[in-house]
Amino acid sequence: SLVVRSGAGVSIATAAALPILTKLQNDCATPLPVLRHVADAMATDMRDGLAVDGGSDLKMILSYVDYLPTGNERGLFYALDLGGTNFRVLRTQLGGKDDRVIATEFEQVSIPQDLMFGTSEELFDFIASALAKFVKKEGGKFVLPNGRSRETGFTFSFPVKQTSIDSGILIKWTKGFAVSGTPGKDVVACLNEAMKRQGLDMRVSALVNDTVATLAGARYWDNDVMVAVILGTGTNACYVESVDAIPKLNGQKTTSGRTIVNTEWGAFSNGLPLTEFDREMDAESINPGEQLFEKTISGMYLGEIVRRILVRMAESGSLFGKRVPERLRTPFTLGTPNISSIQQDTSEDLEAVGTILYEATGVDSNLDARKMVVEVCDTIAKRGGRLAGAGIVGILQKMEEDSKGIVFGKRTVVAMDGGLYEHHPQYRRYLKDAVTELLGPELSSNVVIEHSKDGSGIGAALLAATNSIYEH
Ligand code: BGC
Ligand code: MG
Repeated sequence: SLVVRSGAGVSIATAAALPILTKLQNDCATPLPVLRHVADAMATDMRDGLAVDGGSDLKMILSYVDYLPTGNERGLFYALDLGGTNFRVLRTQLGGKDDRVIATEFEQVSIPQDLMFGTSEELFDFIASALAKFVKKEGGKFVLPNGRSRETGFTFSFPVKQTSIDSGILIKWTKGFAVSGTPGKDVVACLNEAMKRQGLDMRVSALVNDTVATLAGARYWDNDVMVAVILGTGTNACYVESVDAIPKLNGQKTTSGRTIVNTEWGAFSNGLPLTEFDREMDAESINPGEQLFEKTISGMYLGEIVRRILVRMAESGSLFGKRVPERLRTPFTLGTPNISSIQQDTSEDLEAVGTILYEATGVDSNLDARKMVVEVCDTIAKRGGRLAGAGIVGILQKMEEDSKGIVFGKRTVVAMDGGLYEHHPQYRRYLKDAVTELLGPELSSNVVIEHSKDGSGIGAALLAATNSIYEH
């Protein structure tokens, strides 16, 4: 800790911040018993959510994806991806077992801030128009057999109550979206109407969550993938479940005997080590009391938690000089990518830390203040990564307890994606350490936690192929 590192050399500027740091590290601590509690509670909440709709914080949404890609998929397919920060359109040509993915092209646009607070029509018009442009650019290069529509997978990364593989009702927005008029509506119908306005003939063959698309994309290459986790702007996990373990199916079977369940674990809340900073951020958020696990571990929030702590420290003494700059007081000025960059600076003088702080928030910092900032970032990243790891163990534990041999005693892959996982090495390490601590060396040696980069794009196209209404 800081005290050990800088010894008696703590300056007057940081002296007042020190007790705040000590309390923070206490409140955020994730020793093994805390992790174990979270893993157990995750497993219990999963079961309660599978028993009956509304049975727990976890919605345990049935995805209607009962078959994962096999490699035999063929034909031309599209994928749309509406998630946290970007919107993506993708086209892929699938060539079956031997040729696999023949070609893929995609375009990405960031979602204009005002669309996140606009109307449903505006948002879906934006999506449909980007898609129409993408198709138009082909200039007749891809000709479909007579009478066929183009088919797409639609990755929609928000909680949706699926009503079939190609329809589902938005339960609520998350990740800072507050678009009016969509909750309670079928998002495929919204998209279809917008495509009609654009004069675009495209059929949504599969509506999927990004975790489900990631699972499908990863499974295409590796048969041992059983779980997929997104750690990006938001967070979520899905996994392969046996239909016999889903009481709310009331005895309905699938021919595969299995189905993918979207846990919506971002809403988990049981036994989290929260601080006053988390509670204040939550209270001031657009969805107070909701998505507490997400607010503790995902990319949209880690930087904001750190910023709130730094404001408190700055006010307590003179961490960044006498005045607290206005920009440091502005919510969300410090992003989680900043936190990661700060943690990559291992130099003596922490010059990069100083630059990042100055550019993001306008504060001037001396070496002691920078050391303090590094400690705060590490504390928040560590808590997030370790709790995410405990969540993963909770899922594996639940799967194994209800279907013996499905996870342990053989290779099991957890497919990971999302900007936070990809770009934050310390977070990644904390996550993996927690998994190993919880499972022990033997069990954890068979659990492979693997980055499946952008698997969700191909995954959604693959699921469009699996659920195509045409012969290919
Ligand atoms: C949403 C999930 C999504 C996750 C990751 C959460 O906010 O509720 O549906 O999978 O973010 O994108
Ligand atoms: Mg995404």
